[in-house]
Parts: sequence; C-alpha cells; structure tokens
Amino acid sequence: MRTILNFPRWLYAGIVFIVICVAGLLALRNTDQQREQMIANLKDRADVLIWALEGSARAMGRMGQNHLPELLEEIGDEPDVAYMAILDGQGRILIHSDSAESGNLRRLPPLHEEMDKEPSVSRGTFITDGEKPLYEVWKIFAPKRPGPVFAPGDPRLTRRWLHPTRKWPWDEGRFYIAVGMDASHFEPRLRRYVAQTMMMAALITAAGLAGIALLFFFQNYKRSRRMLEDTQALAEQVISNLPVGLVVTDLHGKISLRNRPAEQILGIPHEQENHPPLQDLTFFDWRSLMDELDSGGLILEKELDAFASKTRNMPVSLSAAKLTDSEGGKSGYLFILRDLDEVRRLRRQVKLNERLSALGNLAAGVAHEIRNPLSSIKGYATYLTEKVKEDKMAHATGMILIQETDRLNRVVSDLLSVAKPLNLRIESASITPLLQQAIRLITPEAEENMVTVELDLPPEQTPQKDRIMLDADRFTQALLNLLVNAVQAAGGAGSGGTVRLTLEKTTEHGGPEFLAVSVSDNGQGIAPRDMENLFTPYFTTKATGTGLGLTIAQRIIEQHGGEIKVYSRQGQGAAFTILLPVTAEPRGSDA
Ligand code: ADP
Repeated sequence: MRTILNFPRWLYAGIVFIVICVAGLLALRNTDQQREQMIANLKDRADVLIWALEGSARAMGRMGQNHLPELLEEIGDEPDVAYMAILDGQGRILIHSDSAESGNLRRLPPLHEEMDKEPSVSRGTFITDGEKPLYEVWKIFAPKRPGPVFAPGDPRLTRRWLHPTRKWPWDEGRFYIAVGMDASHFEPRLRRYVAQTMMMAALITAAGLAGIALLFFFQNYKRSRRMLEDTQALAEQVISNLPVGLVVTDLHGKISLRNRPAEQILGIPHEQENHPPLQDLTFFDWRSLMDELDSGGLILEKELDAFASKTRNMPVSLSAAKLTDSEGGKSGYLFILRDLDEVRRLRRQVKLNERLSALGNLAAGVAHEIRNPLSSIKGYATYLTEKVKEDKMAHATGMILIQETDRLNRVVSDLLSVAKPLNLRIESASITPLLQQAIRLITPEAEENMVTVELDLPPEQTPQKDRIMLDADRFTQALLNLLVNAVQAAGGAGSGGTVRLTLEKTTEHGGPEFLAVSVSDNGQGIAPRDMENLFTPYFTTKATGTGLGLTIAQRIIEQHGGEIKVYSRQGQGAAFTILLPVTAEPRGSDA
C-alpha cells in the first residue's frame, strides 16, 4: 500500500495522459464502428432491394412478362430510396425509377472493374447528387436463369419452368443495377453519435482524473496522517521520558496531559485514566499560579513547599508558562515540576558535614574541659543548696544554679553526641514499651507547659509484631528530642496544646516495610523558609535553644538505616515521623 501511494508526481502526469489518450482512442474507434454500422445498414437495405428486384425479374422472366419499369418506379417512391436504375455495360440507363432518365448515359463507377471480377458482390459508395448526399450501391445485374434446365420430354418439366429454348433477356451482354439510397440523415446522425461518444469519453476521462486526484489526495492524507502520528509518538516519548514532571492544562485548569514523573509528584495513580481537575490537587495554590501567568509572568525554577499528602511536605521546583494556540490566543498552561527532596537532602547533608567538622574539632577539646569543672560546680551547688534549706530565697537561687548547671551539662553532652561517633548497641526490642517510657519521661515537662500527650497504637499491636532491631537508649534519646520540641511548640500555643505520639506500619509505593513513629503537635508550625534549615546543627529559633536536638535525632535514626520526615503547615502545627526499616539491617556504629 505504501509503495503504491508513494508514486512520484511525473507518474501521475503520465497516468492522466494515458487516461485521456485511452478515452480519445475509444471514442474514435466507437465513432468508426458506428459509421461502418450505419453504412452496412444502408448497404443491407440496398442489397435487399437489389435482391428483391432480381427475384422479381426472374419471376417475370418465367412468366414472360416485363414489369420492371413499373417496379423500379414503385421502389423509387420509397422514402429512403433516391432512385433505382438498370444500366448496360456502356452506362446507358435501360430502366430508371424516374422514367425521364431512361436512355441517358451515366458514367459507371470506378469500381466496376472490381465488380466484374466478382459479379455476385455489390459495392457501395457515397456521392452527391447536386445538393443531396446519396449512398449508391452497384451490382452486376444478372438474374440467373431460373430453375434447372431439363431435357425436353422430362416428366419433371412442368409449365412452371421456362422452356430451355426460350431466350433469357439478361443472358447476353453486361448489365448493372444501381440503387441510390438517401444519405441526407447519415451525417447529422453520425455527428450526433460522435457528440454523444465525445461526451461519454469526456465523462470517463473526468471520472478517471477524479479517481487519480482522489488517489493523490488520499496519498497526501495518509502521508500527513502518518507524519502526524510519528510526531505525536515522538512527542509522547519525549514527554514520558522527561526526568521532570510535566502537566498541561486548559484555561480552566483541566489537565489534558501528564507524564509519569508528574503522576508521582502529584500523587495521581498511574492507572487512573481520567485526569483529576487541578483544583482538586491541594498540592499548590494553582489558581494564584495561573493568575500570575495571566498577568504576563513566567515562573522559572521557583522553589515551593508543596503538600504532597496530609503528612508530607515536598520541596518542588516549579516552572510554568502560558500556552498559546496557532492563532496566538491563550490555550492553557504548562507546568514543569521537579522533586527537590533529594536536592534538599543533599544540601542539608553538605551543611551538616561542614558544621560537624568544625564542631568536631572544637567539641572534642572544649567539651571535655568544661565537663570536669561543671560536675564540681554542680556538686558544690547541691551541697550549698542543702545547707541553706531554711532560707527560701537562698535555696531557690541554689536550685536555679543546679538546674542551669544541668542544662549546661546537657548542652555539653549534646555537643559530644554530635561530635563523637555513635557506638550503637543494636538489639531486638519491642517498640511499644519504648514509646510508653518516652511518654513517662516527657510528662513532667508537658505538664509544666500545660500540654496533653497522647499515645496512639495500632489496634492489632502484638509483642511479636512490634519487635525491631535498634539501640533502645539512642532511639529513646532521638524520640525525646522530637517530643521536647513538640511539647515546647504546643505549649507556645497556650492552653489546649496537644502532642500525639503514633505508631503504625507503612510501606511506601509497595516497597519495604517501615515502622513509622510520628510526633505531631498543634503548635505554630514551621515557617517555609526554616524548612530547609531543620536538622542543621545550631539552627534554632528559640531564645534558649541549642539547635542540636534535631541534628542528634537525625543522626541516630540514620544510623539505624531510617530517616526522619517532616510535615508542617504554618499555624497548624508540625509532624516529625521517624521511619525505621523493619527488615533492613541497621548501619550500627559510624565510628
Ligand atoms: P532547639 O530545639 O534547641 O531549637 P532543635 O534542633 O531541636 O533545636 O530544633 C531546631 C528548630 O527546629 C527549632 O528551634 C524550631 O524552630 C524548629 N522545630 C523543631 N521542632 C519543631 C516543632 N515541633 N514545631 C515547630 N518548630 C520546630
């Protein structure tokens, strides 16, 4: 099919030429055949008249009569017969349908010699008699002697047969018979037929040309369609293999195209065939993005914290543009999304490493030097505070001294935890008692901050199911760091502060199983600009904060092969989720 359709153009010109030639030749041939047919008809009619006359002549001969002049006159009156005549060998008219012509001389037709060779065959030719066109048929007039010649006395000889001795007038000499057929209708009829044939030929040619044109257009259509399909297939391949998410919408935000990475970023299941409306995806504030594009803006690599799910923020780089149709009118919007989770994690890691290396050098020397005098200070402070038990003012001051020394000691411990390698003691442990213990440890601080702490465990929790390989002390330390932050954040919100500790088993995208321990609060949440700095050593927004709690927690959890995910909406609280792989081997010590 493809090869037929890929004819070069000159071939089409050739086909057109051939169609015209064939139609023309057919028309000519038809015209010739028609002409021959019409002549044959005229001649047949003339032959019949000659045959009838010869027959009559024979009959008259037998009867010894000669009514040929009257007969010719009768025949001459026939509407399509112009004349009929019998001539002798010199061209003298013996009998003529118009008796006035009898005795005149006529020039014999040039074909009379041919007729002499074949006397039984008649010959026809066109002539004009004055204005009138005639078709003249000539034949040698020789009505045969009728019947067999029997010997006299033969019993078969009856009176029906001419006596053999009787003289037959046409036996001696040469005679011709000529019939002139009226051919005045011949040419107009032929012309009409030619006109009809030409019309048919023109119609056939037109049909042929239309067929060829159709073939040509069909070929072009097929080629254009194939090109379109190829281009579409290429575009689809390019779009689906792009390493970034691509979403195209119409003017009302209805998605018309999306690729796989976009589905993953926006959380649209790949099996879902129909596109959800953009407004249903609470990922971004799409309307304001579209308004920004409508007001002539172009969004380039804008870093946004999108809400990938109810428990997860996703840093996304967004580029967007307005789409226009072929006439320059607005046709929709194009959004290009890039997941920055990994980029942010790496950035954070780099920052962390920088700070840790600085911290490591400092902490190792300084922290050790501070710890010894600090324990002396605490010992003396405790001793002196005991001594002034009766003096309330002095006792309170002493207590502050002890608390502040404790705080200082904690800072130093934190500093050492960050700088020192973690030597994990990994054992199989049940996680529920660890969570309950953490709740017990945080309760005094929670009460102080008027915060309620709740523990949510999955209903089907059994001792076998919640066992996991971990360093229980370190895990509790990490969890406490998160709980302390949550209690402080929820406490800042005044009364009604709540912290919820939940445990559940989860799998992400059908991957390995994780234990997810979430600490969520209803505090003020985290400002988007601070999201990137979380887990960075010394990053704190608190007046008395050290900025080490999250760093230490993350370090411990990462050593267990897990990770901490953060979700926060400013003004609506925050959730920190520790994900611990259930099957994976913990990394153990980072020494
Ligand atoms: P610190 O608590 O000493 O500031 P962290 O590393 O524990 O140090 O926390 C760093 C910062 O992260 C905090 O200062 C705070 O701004 C922010 N943060 C941590 N947890 C929360 C939370 N639950 N709610 C709001 N902000 C938080």
